Amino acid sequence: MSNPKPIRTSTASQSHVGQVRAANQDVCGEFSDDLGRRLLVVADGMGGHAGGEIASQLALETIGEIFGVGFDDPIEMLRKALKGANAKIHQAGNAAPELHNMGTTAVALLLGVGETVSVAHVGDSRAYRMRSGRLEQITEDHSWVREEVRQNRLAAEDAESHPMKNVLLRSLGVAPEVNVSVIREPLRPGDRFMLCSDGLWGEVGPAEISEIMARSDAPTAVHDLIDLANRNGGSDNVTVAVAIVQDQESDSTREIEQSATAPNTESATLPMPPTAGGEGYSASESVNARTRWPSWVG
Ligand code: CA
Repeated sequence: MSNPKPIRTSTASQSHVGQVRAANQDVCGEFSDDLGRRLLVVADGMGGHAGGEIASQLALETIGEIFGVGFDDPIEMLRKALKGANAKIHQAGNAAPELHNMGTTAVALLLGVGETVSVAHVGDSRAYRMRSGRLEQITEDHSWVREEVRQNRLAAEDAESHPMKNVLLRSLGVAPEVNVSVIREPLRPGDRFMLCSDGLWGEVGPAEISEIMARSDAPTAVHDLIDLANRNGGSDNVTVAVAIVQDQESDSTREIEQSATAPNTESATLPMPPTAGGEGYSASESVNARTRWPSWVG
C-alpha cells in the first residue's frame, strides 16, 4: 500500500439481549481484509416472529460480503453494501408472509483507507466520535423525532421521552430502495469511535458515554457501556462497537490491538449481570418496539 505508516486501530464489539426482552434482534460484526481495512457494523432489527433477527443478520452478512469483494472507493462500497442489504432483506420479506415488513437499522464504520474514516447508516443506530476528550454524535438519526427537532417543531430535550421516539423514517428492507447517509472525514491520531443501537443511547447519556470512552481500551469500553445500559434498565437489546485509533504519542494501543483483533466476526459473550427478565417473561412487541413510518409518508 502507498500509506507508509499504517494507522493502528484496536476494536471490539458486543451485543447483549438486555434486561427485558426475550430475544436479541441486534447484531454486531467486524470484518477486515488483507489491505488492513477494517469494517465495524451494528444493526438493530425489527419485525414480528423472527423477522427482526433475520433482518439484522441478513444486513450484517450482506454488508460483510460486499466489503469482502474488494473496493477502491469506500463511499461507493458502503453505499452499495447497505443498499445490497436493503434489497436482500426486502426480497426475503416478500418471499415469506410471516417476515413481511421486517427491517433493520444499520451503521457501518470503515477504517484503514488512508487517514480517513467513513461511516454509513440508515435508521437510528448511531456513530459517535471522541476527539481531544470531546464526544460528538457523527450520524443523524433517521427518526421522526429527529426530523421534528431539525424543523424546530420539537425541543431536543423532549425527543427522548416522546411517544413517537421509536418511529423511523428510514430502515433497511422495508422498501425496494433506500437512501443511505454516508460521510467521510479525516482521521486524527487518538480518535475514538463508538457505534451503538438505541438500546445503548436510550439508557446511557452522553456524559456517561464520554467518561467511559475516555478512560477505557476498546474491549473495556464495550463491556462497561453495555454493563451500564443494563444497570440503567436494559429495556432494549444493547449493542456496542468501539474502535480506538492509536495515538502517535504512545505505543500503548499496540498491545490492545493484538489482544482485541482476534478473528471476531461473531461477537463473543462477555460476563454480564444476571438478567432480570429471562425465562417466562414474554416481551411485548408493543412495549418500546421499533415501528416504521407508514409508507404513505414516503
Ligand atoms: Ca433497539
